[in-house]
Amino acid sequence: MPKVFSYNGEFLDATYNVGTVDGVFGLIIESWGPKNRNPDYACAVRYIIQRLREANLSFIKVYVISRNLSKALPNIEDRAVKLYNNVDTDIYIRHVHADDIRLAIGREVGEMKEPHNIKSKGGNRFKRILIHSPLMTDKYWHTLASTMDKLDIFEPTADHEKFNLLVDSLLKQKIEEPTGSIHPKQSNITTTVYLRDPFVKAWVLSNAVGKCEACQLPAPFHRTDGTPYLEVHHLIPLSEGGSDTISNALAVCPNCHRKLHFSLDKESLKLEIESKIPRLIRA
Ligand SMILES: [Zn+2]
Ligand SMILES: [Zn+2]
Repeated sequence: MPKVFSYNGEFLDATYNVGTVDGVFGLIIESWGPKNRNPDYACAVRYIIQRLREANLSFIKVYVISRNLSKALPNIEDRAVKLYNNVDTDIYIRHVHADDIRLAIGREVGEMKEPHNIKSKGGNRFKRILIHSPLMTDKYWHTLASTMDKLDIFEPTADHEKFNLLVDSLLKQKIEEPTGSIHPKQSNITTTVYLRDPFVKAWVLSNAVGKCEACQLPAPFHRTDGTPYLEVHHLIPLSEGGSDTISNALAVCPNCHRKLHFSLDKESLKLEIESKIPRLIRA
């Protein structure tokens, strides 16, 4: 197990690991244990929280992954640490002293007791915990724990999925007016694209005769050539194995299109549309 680095460039006497436990990915660290194992545990946890804060992270989740407790509570969500009587398992780490968070986590971890039918010899002093953030990749965790390099988590990115995760995370915190960049950097990336059949899109659009097939309203505007503006949506995305056929494609207004992708009730909307339009019945 690698050791956690400290601010002044010296290794702390505490080891860590990065990996997935019960489906959750994060940094794993074991508390101060018998035979003086990990004596710098507290210091290491405080240092990790500090580094995460410097990287502009607002929330972490902490799970207890000790063997006995995992046996008693197999669902890892039941072993998520909640601070200050919160119902939420998101632990807010900005504008709070790293040491206060560390102490509060330690207290909650200690409180998490195995049910009485499982006798534990070590008491609750020696616990393995896993620190998780959806923004922290394997590379980021290792950079954080074993180098003194700055974490560039919120740097501009061309990765669409990562970009939206970052935006969602920033939406949960107060941010200052950003400067952005006058000349955003460009990058060439390789992506998998699907060859789409122009006949399918054209057929679906003309079949809709200018009306959204979801909300039945007319197209919101006309294009420069005078034709109604509608978009074509694949009910099962091509990237998930959906077909590029008229039984998987429908013409929708931009509003309904976004709804089909992002709405809270997109699944029921999809079912409703499928039940109304006979050609969408798939074998
Ligand atoms: Zn619509
Ligand atoms: Zn779509």
